[in-house]
Amino acid sequence: MYSERIAGVRSSAIRDILKLTTRPGMISFAGGLPAPELFPMEEIARAAQNVFSKYGPSSLQYSITEGIKPLREKIAKKVYDGQGIGVENIIITQGSQQGLDLISKLLIDKGAVVLTENPSYLGALQSFRLFQADIVSIPSDEKGIQVKKLREALNSVKPAFIYLMPNFQNPTGVTLSMERRTELIELMRDRDVLIVEDDPYGELIFEGKSLPTLFSLARGKDIVYVSSFSKTIVPGFRVAYIAADAEIAGKLALVKQGTDLHTNTLGQHVVNEYLESGNHRKHLDMVRQTYKTRRDLMLSAMEKHFPKSARWNKPAGGMFIWATLADDGTDSKDILLRCIEKDVAFVPGREFFPDGSGGNTMRLNFSNAAPDDIEKGIKRIGEVLAGMGSEKRE
Ligand code: PMP
Repeated sequence: MYSERIAGVRSSAIRDILKLTTRPGMISFAGGLPAPELFPMEEIARAAQNVFSKYGPSSLQYSITEGIKPLREKIAKKVYDGQGIGVENIIITQGSQQGLDLISKLLIDKGAVVLTENPSYLGALQSFRLFQADIVSIPSDEKGIQVKKLREALNSVKPAFIYLMPNFQNPTGVTLSMERRTELIELMRDRDVLIVEDDPYGELIFEGKSLPTLFSLARGKDIVYVSSFSKTIVPGFRVAYIAADAEIAGKLALVKQGTDLHTNTLGQHVVNEYLESGNHRKHLDMVRQTYKTRRDLMLSAMEKHFPKSARWNKPAGGMFIWATLADDGTDSKDILLRCIEKDVAFVPGREFFPDGSGGNTMRLNFSNAAPDDIEKGIKRIGEVLAGMGSEKRE
């Protein structure tokens, strides 16, 4: 009855377990949600009012597949304020998740190789699997994907594209170093492989200098850039975008037409009006500051409560801390089960590894946790880890 394509998509036991994390009293570091108390509610309400008075019923009418022009103009300037990038390069999508779906539809034939980082974003892996891609993952370290390993892999495979998150990667929070960015672009040009750059977190930077996107480094050539307003304004509008050369953008528009005709008109108008209001910079600064404080709270709680054998990073932005536990056979899925009994949750890392490794890793979200809960929740995880460690020693 079902298509071959859906048969290849595994349901995840972890997802079922994580459904329990919505029960009252649970402290969840599992999701990837922005903090709702920071949503710019008044500004959005004002923007919506303005949209209704300016555009009337046309703000609720069908609109063009590529997206409304004033918003595409703003995005074109934002992604690359240089020659050669304009509205014809921008498609507004229903979340960047739809961007990934459209790219998959356009570029993946059954059995085509898609290269990813190891680990990588679950939603992207799911989309590639739905189109029956053969996912080949390339090792990453604290500087991002290992270009040397990528070069070796390219000797034996010819991928449809490589999928990367250069800024504050999901799940690891790692940023691709400047040196590797330039090496990577050169290598992919040389091997004639398209790069799909997913960048929902780039603007959530807490310290240091933003590195240029691959898209801007390559002046928009041979890179399909995907980003979103989900993490910087609100996710509920589902307004996001793809930037690509005009030919690819045109093909993506064809695919989108057959998918949903266009992204919701009102959401696009409200986002556009909100961006025009001039409040966005201030809002972003406040979000960055709040997330930085939460990251620091989580890091100091981990310092206090996690075992000495555990290691973790200090991401310079984004929403996640990535922890690696002692490689002694402990599976973070078992840790999660015990944590849930104590009303605290995280995502076991193995989920994110296309090659099935990473059993001793965990992803901890800090953006959507109340400051009081961060200390409490990390302490509970620390107690579970200490308990399991002492069981091992017995
Ligand atoms: N890409 C990455 C790396 C993500 O983490 C997410 C959301 N968690 C998305 C894409 C999808 O976001 P949205 O559809 O809300 O734009």
